[in-house]
Amino acid sequence: MSKLPHIGTSIFTVMSQLANEHQAINLSQGFPNFPIDERLIEIVAKLSKENVHQYTPMSGLPSLLEKIALLTQQSYGRMVNPASEILITAGATEGIFATIQALVQSGEEVVILDPSYDCYEAPILLSNAKPIRVSLHSDFTPNWDAIRAATNKKTRLIIINNPHNPTGKMWSEHDFLQLENLVETHPNLLVLSDEVYEYIRFEQPHISVHHRRKLWDRSISISSFGKSFHITGWKIGYVIAPESIMKEIKKVHQFLVFSVSSMAQHALNAYIDQVDVTEIGRFYQQKRDRFRQLMQATKLELLPCEGTYFQVASYAGISDENDVDFTRRLVTEFGVATIPISTFYANGTDYHCIRFCFAKDDDTLQNATERLMKL
Ligand code: PMP
Ligand code: GLN
Repeated sequence: MSKLPHIGTSIFTVMSQLANEHQAINLSQGFPNFPIDERLIEIVAKLSKENVHQYTPMSGLPSLLEKIALLTQQSYGRMVNPASEILITAGATEGIFATIQALVQSGEEVVILDPSYDCYEAPILLSNAKPIRVSLHSDFTPNWDAIRAATNKKTRLIIINNPHNPTGKMWSEHDFLQLENLVETHPNLLVLSDEVYEYIRFEQPHISVHHRRKLWDRSISISSFGKSFHITGWKIGYVIAPESIMKEIKKVHQFLVFSVSSMAQHALNAYIDQVDVTEIGRFYQQKRDRFRQLMQATKLELLPCEGTYFQVASYAGISDENDVDFTRRLVTEFGVATIPISTFYANGTDYHCIRFCFAKDDDTLQNATERLMKL
């Protein structure tokens, strides 16, 4: 009998496969299609001849852990202990999986805010716990009345994702005040804060759990080098958590992967202090603006995009098909692959919205929008 009877193939795999089959322009799965930083390519070429090919310590290369602590201090003004509060993981996905497996007991509940990224549910189910899916408001801000109503003494975690995939929405000061109140009311509750797009934000500053003194002891943050440095295929990220919580997460990580690719860790160790992370937001802001400007020539209606490299658009003015059918037709008839937003909800939606990834070179964005103009 299946342990995960309702879990199917991820929509990102499905749409990328469909894009390949139909030689469509792939704006579905989130990954950049432009070359990575030349400096990182050179570092990798040089490093491969050095003695960097064996296991690193289980938690990560000590010098990289120290540099992550420094980056965290520079970005958020919080000094964490590199030896006891940071863990380098095989992408954010492994960090999220290890955290949930380590902290959530059988019979407990985890609040997830829909639309939500797809990797949260399986580890909750494998912990024999219950995902409680609470929908965001229709403008994609958190519905605090619904969140409060869904939280009780069995709730072990609330998973937040800011900046938010798929909507590109960011949390406000008000949202963090509400979260702090919630955590204060429920002593068993921890916050799993998925911040993989922390540096991909535009007009508005990103508020991290690391900015919030009241949340320090109760939060686990998740970061991804894949997103920040355009290297999604390297599958490397990190978790930051208070020592007592991190001890438990490390127990799972130890037997899930033990340690993460040594080449990737050594390369990032040589690269990380050459990067100005504030540039990442500026870089993607240009992409977002270009894509939005090109999309003006189509009949799709763009929703606001405050962060991430995703743009949500409504096709309500074009068709009343459901979004799964509509995205299939976009691939097969128009040659552009996107993601239907309803797949990020437990029970679907009728919002008639689709997600585009604009982490693409200018030609790709231009060609895609030319095809979309025919809609
Ligand atoms: N969380 C969110 C919100 C994501 O969009 C992604 C996808 N990249 C991940 C986690 C997983 O990141 P990684 O590729 O580093 O495992
Ligand atoms: N995070 C990527 C996205 O949202 C997908 C990563 C994956 O395919 N697992 O498109």
